[in-house]
Amino acid sequence: MKNVISVRDLEDMVRKGQNPGNLPADAILTPSARDFLHDLEGNGAITGAAVTEKSQPPAKAFNSKSPSAELEKFFNSPYCHGLKEQLCDIGRRLWGRAYVDGNGGNISIRVGEDIALCTPTLVSKGFMKPEDMCLVDFEGNQLCGVKKRTSEILMHLQIMKRQPKAVATCHCHPPYSTGFAVAGLVPPTCMIPEYEVFASVAVAPYRTPGTPEMGQLVADLVDKHNTILMANHGVVSWSHNNVEDAYFKMEILEAYCRTVLVTAQLGKPAQTMTPAQLQDLLKIKQSLGIPDPRHGLKECELCDNDEWRPGVSCAVPPKQEATTGLDAEAEKAVQAITDQILAQMK
Ligand SMILES: [Zn+2]
Repeated sequence: MKNVISVRDLEDMVRKGQNPGNLPADAILTPSARDFLHDLEGNGAITGAAVTEKSQPPAKAFNSKSPSAELEKFFNSPYCHGLKEQLCDIGRRLWGRAYVDGNGGNISIRVGEDIALCTPTLVSKGFMKPEDMCLVDFEGNQLCGVKKRTSEILMHLQIMKRQPKAVATCHCHPPYSTGFAVAGLVPPTCMIPEYEVFASVAVAPYRTPGTPEMGQLVADLVDKHNTILMANHGVVSWSHNNVEDAYFKMEILEAYCRTVLVTAQLGKPAQTMTPAQLQDLLKIKQSLGIPDPRHGLKECELCDNDEWRPGVSCAVPPKQEATTGLDAEAEKAVQAITDQILAQMK
């Protein structure tokens, strides 16, 4: 069988009653053939090597020094195709939830010792196709892919270099979380269990997006934090599991920031959990292999929001100020009406 498989070849196989899932491991599929195969898999119409290979990493590990022909083959393998589809899927979710704007946001997945798949630049994350994806080395040099890699890739790569557990990274601009990033505030703690268990948040100072300096400041925090608020910019997260898990950090953080804001507007002090209750959650967090600077702290040192949310103020504005302003307005109106009545009486 020839190595490059087109959609016509697959249709022929189906016509002849052959299983298109049983392609040779080194078969290269054209983009439309991949879509065709994917549709068949989705329908449950086929099973076999091509299907199982999709979820299995290659037996041989690749790196930036691998021959370019081998890298190209790897980049076009069913395994990488599966990961490219995951990048598209996460992109659609980011866009659908309004966590990205314009061409903003970028996602990457580690696929070797010093290589990563990533999203392209200048493409909306909601409308990416698997063939848009890029392969880069850890210095940001593009190794494969037709479209140009994201301009913010250095930050993702610096996270992966500094945090060996990071298998995937996700960056976007969710409005509520970015609001905290603009204010330079780490959200207060001890309010919602999911946030405590799955996210460990810190703020990195602002630098121009895409510069090595920005990546450096984020990378400095990833030893103990998996979700970094980038001041005046957005959020980046990493996962030790997979790209969907890196994305979940965004959902959890964004929902939390929104909830904290709603709580702040209710005019009542937030009811926080006790240090013992938080300790229970941190035990779960540690068992899941998720870092947190509070691991190992004593109970009395937990839920200290002065330390974990420097400068945060969740209070409603003092009543005095609000009413003073209104009274002055009201006084003016009363004065104007009084003047009119007096003028008419004259
Ligand atoms: Zn950005």
